[in-house]
Amino acid sequence: MSVRRIRVFPDPILRKKCRVVKRIDHSVRELALDMVETMDAANGVGLAANQVGVLKRVVTLHLPEQQDAIILINPEIRDKSGEREVLEGCLSFPGYEGMVKRSVTVKARWLDENGSKMKISTEDLFAQALEHEIDHLNGILYVDHLLEHQRLAAAGTHMNEDSPHMHDLELEVRADHDDTAEMSTEDNIEVVHTTVKFSELYSDSSVHQMQYDLRRAGYVIDQPDIDGLNKIESDNPNLDGGIILDSESNK
Ligand code: ZN
Repeated sequence: MSVRRIRVFPDPILRKKCRVVKRIDHSVRELALDMVETMDAANGVGLAANQVGVLKRVVTLHLPEQQDAIILINPEIRDKSGEREVLEGCLSFPGYEGMVKRSVTVKARWLDENGSKMKISTEDLFAQALEHEIDHLNGILYVDHLLEHQRLAAAGTHMNEDSPHMHDLELEVRADHDDTAEMSTEDNIEVVHTTVKFSELYSDSSVHQMQYDLRRAGYVIDQPDIDGLNKIESDNPNLDGGIILDSESNK
């Protein structure tokens, strides 16, 4: 047995469909045993064969309450019912997690490593793991199921429904272009409507999206030292241009 390299997103093999195993031979058993070792070494609950680069319908599961890992060959979901929202992660997205919708009850069947027919009707983590891993075999990733308004969060930092969470913010900014006029008139005020995508601020990469949106909407100025403008300094070096949220407020 040996630990194999786990493919991480966006490795294209994660989007490939795995093929049905026609004969459970030595190479399939060796693959399955390597997957168990790889999964356990990574403290994973489940692993699908394409995550180690093999396009065979083989899954391994090791639920915390089970003493031993199990091997599922050609697993299929026969029926599912109910709906619930759960926090989920994946060994191919190390360090991230997100909220997804999963079934409450899942009925599945598969062959074990000796070719015996197995079936189960299960709930909770077992059901979630079956849906997650069988999705993998079909090239589907859990990020495809992320709930609306949700993005990946760094593992352990995810906010649940009871905590504050982020939505896009609609902004209307009225900019007075004529500094010399004593009073603002409708003629020299430009009204800008924009959406600031705070919902994309969950990861470092989305800071760039945020920066892009702000710059495009005119809220990030390349020369930050223009007199008379409100500037919000950011600790984030990616936002060192300064953000001007309301150019009217220092009148
Ligand atoms: Zn996964």
